[in-house]
Amino acid sequence: MAKSREFKTEIRQLLDLMIHSLYSNRDIFLRELVANAADAIDKARFESLTRPELVRDWAIRIVPDKAAGTLTVSDNGIGMTEEEVIDNIGTIAKSGTRAFLKMLEERGDQAGNIPEMIGQFGVGFYSAFMVASKVELVTKKSGSDAPAVLWSSSGEGRFTTEPADRTEPGTEIKLHLRPECAEYLDSWKISGIIRKYSDYIEYPIIMPEVKVNEDKSETVTDKVLNSQKAIWLRRPSEVTEDEYKSFYSHISNYGGTEYLKAIHLSAEGASEFKALLFLPKQAPFNLLLPEIQKRGLQLYVKRVFITDECKQLIPDYLRFVCGVVDSSDLPLNVSREILQDNPLLAKIEKAVTGKILSELKKLLETDRKSYDQFFGEFGKILKEGIHTDFTNAEKLKDLVMYESMNSEPGKFITLDEYVKAMPESQKEIYYITGDKRESVASSPALEYFRKQGYDVLFMTDPIDDWIMQSMFQYRKKNFKSVDKGDFEVDGAREKLENAAKQYAALVEFFKKEFADSVGEVRFSIRLTDSPCCLITEGNAMSPHLERLFRAMHQQIPVSKRIFELNPEHPLIAALNAEAEKDAASPRLKQYARVLYDQALLAEGSPLPDPAAFAKAVTELLVNGLK
Ligand code: ADP
Repeated sequence: MAKSREFKTEIRQLLDLMIHSLYSNRDIFLRELVANAADAIDKARFESLTRPELVRDWAIRIVPDKAAGTLTVSDNGIGMTEEEVIDNIGTIAKSGTRAFLKMLEERGDQAGNIPEMIGQFGVGFYSAFMVASKVELVTKKSGSDAPAVLWSSSGEGRFTTEPADRTEPGTEIKLHLRPECAEYLDSWKISGIIRKYSDYIEYPIIMPEVKVNEDKSETVTDKVLNSQKAIWLRRPSEVTEDEYKSFYSHISNYGGTEYLKAIHLSAEGASEFKALLFLPKQAPFNLLLPEIQKRGLQLYVKRVFITDECKQLIPDYLRFVCGVVDSSDLPLNVSREILQDNPLLAKIEKAVTGKILSELKKLLETDRKSYDQFFGEFGKILKEGIHTDFTNAEKLKDLVMYESMNSEPGKFITLDEYVKAMPESQKEIYYITGDKRESVASSPALEYFRKQGYDVLFMTDPIDDWIMQSMFQYRKKNFKSVDKGDFEVDGAREKLENAAKQYAALVEFFKKEFADSVGEVRFSIRLTDSPCCLITEGNAMSPHLERLFRAMHQQIPVSKRIFELNPEHPLIAALNAEAEKDAASPRLKQYARVLYDQALLAEGSPLPDPAAFAKAVTELLVNGLK
């Protein structure tokens, strides 16, 4: 005899909405039922650990029946007793039910992506009513004598239970599909949904495949729809190189099967998750484009796919990393809203970041060739972290590399290597920014350092200027740009003051001559071979950075430069004599123009008037030969 019962009020409301209001993305009902089936098998398998007689060939079956218009999802998992069915499905509303209803109410007709969120409220089973006019569930509890039970409902207020004759433990859910949902009987539709959402479910998801033979008879074979390859859950020693490769090509943002390193991460305790991350070998040509910048990691919850671009799991400066995070703490089917600022995701991000940085450090220390290759491809992105991730900035400083004045072109050194090679007299870390090695390498601002035997880091990435704003110190040593701001050397002050007095006429002349572009004319110890150079105020933008901003059509005020003179250079003394004689001499003007333009050329800046420069140089050459 069938017993009829009423659904709990909230559930009745919920079902009413499922049936009458939710039409978008109905596909997820199958994900929910498969996830429930996998959970049920998880429980049965756990029980079988202590009761080996309960072990069976764990599987989930999906059987479409076009003639009957039904879709059946069954598992051989834990099953339920009659009492459990009544409680679980129908009379005891989960605490999430009310929350779900409230949200539906608040959203009103904007309930578009709400089906996505069903699982998160622990009401996934009821999503069956989005596609079914009637649901029949037959279940038998595993490892117990309790008889099987048939639960049945059309979702309209009441459900019935009655004894059933199933003898196998497990649960079978038969959906009588509504006519407009007949597409869920198509095998391509079913396999598509499974591949999308449930590919990595640990148990085989089987669907019978019917083949019509030549003699019109039919052969039915079982087809496994999911790859089951949750390789992130396996021990690294159990995963073959080929499996890594095929998985990498499956999830890689860049295509190809070549990766540099596969990193497994398994966190237990407060937050439990597993991750499999890949450092790619090669950057795609469009690495710096925004599409690539928006990538994240794939997120699974208990092997069920949630989203493939979860940005919250990894900081932007590691966006070249691809991989999977599988959390067992997040509710299944978390919504994007919930992902937004979920503290659990923040914790995972922290662990993922720490792991990647420590693996990179290891790579740097044990396989320099690979690290050099990695850094060549992705270094410019990794560096961003120094500016954006304050907590990990120190670790990142250990990982960045630069060319330097004393290293051969193309060879990169770490800050650690730089500091270790510093002579005792050197107190700061020197660097110069510019757009390429050739132009910074010939900067007159390097002369003093070359003579002292100090090295200077060459920062030639467009982003270096920006990052240096947060670099501050490394191993308690300050960073100092060789072509910026004041430059003091013990005992030099007096010499410079004397030069300023001695050559006052020339300084005066330059000040007037370059009033538009130069804010200060002064003497400096910085130069040894060149007569002069242009320097930037300590906190002003470098000319290189200014050019970059202008190239991006940004309005940048012109900052006045400092014109520095070499007190030891014979040209300075000679020009000063000329200035003392006649500050309005055309020859003096010509020399000034050439000197200033040379200083621009030396730092790789374009000349304001190249033709005028060429003319002035030619005239000076002619005069020299006379
Ligand atoms: P959730 O799975 O989030 O708990 P559901 O509404 O999907 O919420 O399911 C309600 C409950 O019904 C589950 O917690 C489980 O106890 C039971 N249940 C659902 N499907 C099955 C199944 N295939 N086998 C055993 N129990 C199930």
